Amino acid sequence: MSYAGPEFEPSPPRRPRRGPLTVALAALVPGALLGWLVYETVGGSGGGDDPGRADVRSSSPTVSRAPSDDAKEPGASPSPSKSATASAPAASGPLKGKVVVIDPGHNPDNFRHAAEINRQVDIGTHRKECDTTGTSTNAGYTEAEFTLDVAHRMRTLLREQGATVKLTQDGDRPFGPCVDERARIGNEAKADAVVSIHADGSGAGNRGFHVILPGSVHAGAADTRAIVGPSRDLGERVAGRFVAVTGTAPSNYIGDGGGLVTRKDLGGLNLSTVPKVFIECGNMRDSKDAALLTSGAWRQKAARGISEGIVGFLRG
Ligand code: ZN
Repeated sequence: MSYAGPEFEPSPPRRPRRGPLTVALAALVPGALLGWLVYETVGGSGGGDDPGRADVRSSSPTVSRAPSDDAKEPGASPSPSKSATASAPAASGPLKGKVVVIDPGHNPDNFRHAAEINRQVDIGTHRKECDTTGTSTNAGYTEAEFTLDVAHRMRTLLREQGATVKLTQDGDRPFGPCVDERARIGNEAKADAVVSIHADGSGAGNRGFHVILPGSVHAGAADTRAIVGPSRDLGERVAGRFVAVTGTAPSNYIGDGGGLVTRKDLGGLNLSTVPKVFIECGNMRDSKDAALLTSGAWRQKAARGISEGIVGFLRG
């Protein structure tokens, strides 16, 4: 079922900048502790290509693992490959010959590499941070853990359909990749569809998912004019199946309720030459959304909803 959401283009979310406190801490504190403090100081989000609105910081001093029900969840990859671009083309299936790139937002170790991920990269329209730490739930389940888990589940589901699946990162690199490289991986793979997985960091009470579509951009190395149409088709199908499979309502705080948002400030979209969307699966800083995002059973539904949207797009 195709999902026909309304058209709207809200102003880009506020992105808090890193302040002098971050720099002061960086000069004083070494190693992992530094990483954690920087993570806390920047609120787990910020510039780069984080489409989220993370402006609420964790009050927890610990980064905990996800609830340990993952091993019991069907569909989760039991031992994910450590090759970022690992792909194992299935022998058959309706998506045989199709290439899907999954971009798990952020990186579990970004918070240890503040200097590297703060490096500015060119996204065509302007320069912005290489990557960001992402947000977390108030209990410390990080967005980067979430995105990687959903990506693994999607990889399993899409391979079952015969697709060749590549990940932009698999927790196997020290940080990043930068947003320009994330786009380049999809382009060089000649992907038929790319989906970047995220979860938002907005205020409590803000709930629901939204899918971010590329706006028409033609500046510098960015030229999205050829992908705006097919990306909208992809995004509408992903949103439609996400609603159907998870039962989760579209965002109540961004857009006008249809779950679709168009953006021109994300390097991962601006630099893409293949159909691509982002999805913010929910708000990690809302307790009700966090209960979903930390549930392995719900993540399996989320992965299935997104994957079904991709399958629908690729099968036409
Ligand atoms: Zn994110």
